[in-house]
Amino acid sequence: MGRYSSTLMTRLRHPWPKTVRLRDGDKPDKGRLDGSCNRTACQTPLAGREQWRMKPEYNPEQPHYCGTCARDFHNWDRRIGAPLRCEQVSEETFQ
Ligand SMILES: [Zn+2]
Repeated sequence: MGRYSSTLMTRLRHPWPKTVRLRDGDKPDKGRLDGSCNRTACQTPLAGREQWRMKPEYNPEQPHYCGTCARDFHNWDRRIGAPLRCEQVSEETFQ
C-alpha cells in the first residue's frame, strides 16, 4: 500500500458518483460529447469544435472539455510532471 498516495486511497474508498450530478447553473449537456465544456466556469458549446475527454483513470465519467480548458489542464500537468489527463476526441466523431 506504501506506493499509493493518500489521495488515491481516499479516491478508492470514495469512488466517483456513477451519474453526472448537475449543479445550479450547469447546462444539461455539460461534459457530454458535442455538449458543453465540463468546466463550470466555461461550459463552451462543443459541437463542431475541438473537444477533449478526461481519461478514465482521472474521471470514469470521462467528461468532455473545450480545447482552451484542456490546454489549461495540460499546462498544469506538465508543470507538476504528471501525464496529460485528457485525450483529444478523434476526428471521426465529427463525421
Ligand atoms: Zn472549456
